[in-house]
Amino acid sequence: MDLQGTSFIGAGRGSGGAGESRAVNPVSGEEMEPAYLAEGEESVEAVCSLAAAAFVDFRERSGVEKAGFLRAIADEVDALEEEIVSRMTRETGLPEGRCRMEKGRTCGQLRLFASLLEEGSWVDARIDHADPDRAPVAKPDCRSMWRPMGPVVVFCASNFPLAYSVAGGDTASALASGCPVIVKAHGSHPGTAEIVATAVRIAVEKCGMHEGVFSMLYGSGRTIGQSLVRHSVVRAVGFTGSRNGGRALMDAAAARPEPIPVWAEMSAINPVFVLPGALRERGDAIAEGFVGSLTLGVGQFCTNPGLLIAGGEGRSQFAERIASLAGEAAPAAMLHKGIAEAYQDALKAMMTKEGVETLAQVPVEDGSSQGGAVVLGADTAGFLSDQSMAEEMFGPATLMVSADDEAAMLEVAESLEGQLTATVHATEEDLEMFGKLIAVLERKAGRLVYNGFPTGVEVCHGMVHGGPSPATSDGRSTSVGPRAITRFTRLVCWQDFPDSLLPPELQEENPLKISRIVDGKRT
Ligand code: NAP
Repeated sequence: MDLQGTSFIGAGRGSGGAGESRAVNPVSGEEMEPAYLAEGEESVEAVCSLAAAAFVDFRERSGVEKAGFLRAIADEVDALEEEIVSRMTRETGLPEGRCRMEKGRTCGQLRLFASLLEEGSWVDARIDHADPDRAPVAKPDCRSMWRPMGPVVVFCASNFPLAYSVAGGDTASALASGCPVIVKAHGSHPGTAEIVATAVRIAVEKCGMHEGVFSMLYGSGRTIGQSLVRHSVVRAVGFTGSRNGGRALMDAAAARPEPIPVWAEMSAINPVFVLPGALRERGDAIAEGFVGSLTLGVGQFCTNPGLLIAGGEGRSQFAERIASLAGEAAPAAMLHKGIAEAYQDALKAMMTKEGVETLAQVPVEDGSSQGGAVVLGADTAGFLSDQSMAEEMFGPATLMVSADDEAAMLEVAESLEGQLTATVHATEEDLEMFGKLIAVLERKAGRLVYNGFPTGVEVCHGMVHGGPSPATSDGRSTSVGPRAITRFTRLVCWQDFPDSLLPPELQEENPLKISRIVDGKRT
C-alpha cells in the first residue's frame, strides 16, 4: 500500500497545516517515509461534525448490523496482515511473531464484541410492568437498558500499536455500543495506524455506514487531542498511556461545561507477593517465571511486575537467583526513543534513592533506544518511608522488597496505590496469611492472580483490566473484554411508552429473544 501520510476525515483525507513528523525505526534510528501531516483546529471541527451526523444513524443500527461492521473491520485487518506486520516491525522494533500475535488478538477482540452484539443481552434490558391498581399510587410501566452516549475519542497506546490503537479494544467497544469513533493516532507508529485506518474505512464503505462513524487525526495530543476532548460533540474518551497524559485529559474533560467520562488506563507496578511456604517449596521456579514476566516485551506492558515482595527464610538466595536470571536477559530496543529515555530517567531516580540497592543491571549503550533488565532491592522500612519507591519504571525493572514477617508484608500491601493486578504465590501452609493479604489486595487491584504472573491479559468475558486510581481513572470497569462495552453507554428508561415506540430489546414480545429481567425475575 502507498502510504499517504494524511489523516482520515470521514471518507476524505486531511491536508495538514500544523507541522509534520516521521516515524523513526527504534532499532536503526532511521527516519521513515512518508512524512505525517499534523492537523489543526479545522480538522477537529470537521471530524466532530461528521461524528455527530453519523451518530444519528449509527445509534439506531441493530446489534446484528453493528456486528457485521465489526466483523468486516476484522476481515479487512486480516487481509492487510502482511503490510501491517512489515511496517509495524520497522516502526516499533517488535519482533514479527509479536506483531502477528497482536494482530490476531485485535481481530479476535473485534469478533468477540460482534458475538456479544449478535447475542444481544449485553444491553441489560429490565422491564417492570405497570400496576394501575396499586395503592396508594399507581405503578408506572418502566423499561430501561444501556444506550450509546455519542462520539468517543480514542487515544492510541504506544505499547499496543494494534490491540490498543486504531481498531483496538477501546475502538471496538465504542463502536459495539453504537458510538462513532475519532482516533488520535500515536506519533510512534503512524504508518501502522494508517494501514489499520484504511482497513476500517473499507469496512465502513462495504457495510454502508455513515462516513463519520470513523475518523483518525495525526497531530499533537496537547493541541488537537485536548481540543477533541473539549469539543461539545464528544461524549467520552478512551486512553492508554502515561499517568501525566491521562491526568491532563481527565482534567480537560472535567473542566468542560458538561464534563464527560475519561476511561484512562495509566500506570501500575503490579506487585507480586511470594509467601514463605511458596518460596521454600518452589523458589527457583517462581524466580524463573518472574524474570520471564519482567522481561517480556522489554517490560513495556502495563501489567509488568515492577514490585516483588518476598518473605521468609531463603529470600536472600531468592533475590540472588532473580538478579542472576535478570542479568542474563539480553537488552532489546524499546518502542521509541521517548520511552527509552523515560525508562533511563526513572531508573536513575530510583537507583539514587536512599535505601535502594542495585542487585542486577544489564548494561546498554548510552543514548541507544535499548532497555536492559534491572533488579533493585530495598527493605520494608525503607520502602514504607518513601512513597516514591512505588512509582512506575516503565520497562524491564523491578524493585524487590524483603519483608521480615507477615505484618511487614501486610503493611506493604496496605501502602500501595491502585493497581491493575496483584499476584500472590502461596502454599496451603500460607493460607492463613494469604486470606488477610487477599482481603487487602482486593481493595487495591482489578485482577488478583494466584500462583501465576501478571503479564498476558486474556481477552475473555471474565477478564478485568482495570483497577482503582491511579491504575485507571475509574476502577468501575475494564478496558479488556466484553464488559468494556458499557463504558461508552448510559442508562435510559422509557416510562409508559406504547410498545411500537420502544427499542426491540424492550418490546413486550421480546422479538430479539434476549435474556432480560422482567418484574424482578431473569427471563
Ligand atoms: P503518553 O505520553 O501518555 O501519550 C499517549 C497519548 O496521549 C499520545 O497520543 C499523546 O500525544 C497524548 N498525550 C500525552 N500527554 C497529553 C496531554 N497533556 N494532553 C493531551 N494529550 C496528551 O504515553 P506514551 O507516549 O505511550 O509513553 C510515554 C510514557 O508513558 C512511557 O514512557 C511510560 O512511562 C508511560 N506509559 C505507560 C503505559 C502503561 O500501560 N502503564 C503505557 C504506555 C506508556 P502526543 O503524542 O502528542 O504526546
